[in-house]
Amino acid sequence: MTDSVLKLTVLGSGTSTGVPVLGCHCAVCSSTEPRNSRTRCSALLEWSDHKVLIDTATDFRQQALREGIEQVDTVLYTHAHADHVHGIDDLRTFTLRTGNAIPIYAARGVLDRIQGLFSYIFSEADVAGYRPRLQANEVTGPFALFGQKVIPIPLMHGPGESLGYRIGNLAYVVDCSAIPESSWALLEGLEVLVIDALRFRGHDSHFSISEAIEVARQLRVPKTLLTHLTHDVDYARHSTGLPEGVEFAYDGQTVTLPLPGS
Ligand SMILES: [Zn+2]
Ligand SMILES: [Zn+2]
Ligand SMILES: [Zn+2]
Repeated sequence: MTDSVLKLTVLGSGTSTGVPVLGCHCAVCSSTEPRNSRTRCSALLEWSDHKVLIDTATDFRQQALREGIEQVDTVLYTHAHADHVHGIDDLRTFTLRTGNAIPIYAARGVLDRIQGLFSYIFSEADVAGYRPRLQANEVTGPFALFGQKVIPIPLMHGPGESLGYRIGNLAYVVDCSAIPESSWALLEGLEVLVIDALRFRGHDSHFSISEAIEVARQLRVPKTLLTHLTHDVDYARHSTGLPEGVEFAYDGQTVTLPLPGS
């Protein structure tokens, strides 16, 4: 990896249940097509030999094994829903090995929620070996990370909020049901958009597939990956109906793009 390239790996492309859904025997959940198997939603960004995780999904350990992740330098949290944070304890393996705390970044309310849900992690009273060492950083605006600018993108997620993130000309926009007026400008000139597109039918807290496609169209993004998918999406059957430049994300998918100024 040189300084000039940003690599995204889709760690998980699935909604909160994962696909297959436990106990479901529908065509997608029974499918042998690997791209119909979706772990909980997360991504890995790599640049300049650094590995930045977006969320610690419930399936983080399996994702890390699958992708050979042996190092995590930072975690950017989108929000504190269970599917996006419940893999947090598996960061312990990395911090035990290195002895260094992993910086995590999130909005104030998300940090508070994580610190409440996983109080043992942030309690000095607990034996160090049984908790990951994390160093909490509040996101209040753009910040520098490993020589790049990380731009947080405020999003609406049903009655709640989440943060998307932009690095260079790639933006990761989950979980999201609406983009506030002031956030659109932060998404101009993208080359790659990864966006929440739950399913075909509408949902109060997530973009539907057609809503996500409309966002990509308005932003004129050349390459869009639809993620956080349910078992309603049959990868091969439904891919043919997508417009040019839009595709369903799948676990293990990678995208590389040049970083600006390089
Ligand atoms: Zn989610
Ligand atoms: Zn199913
Ligand atoms: Zn959510």
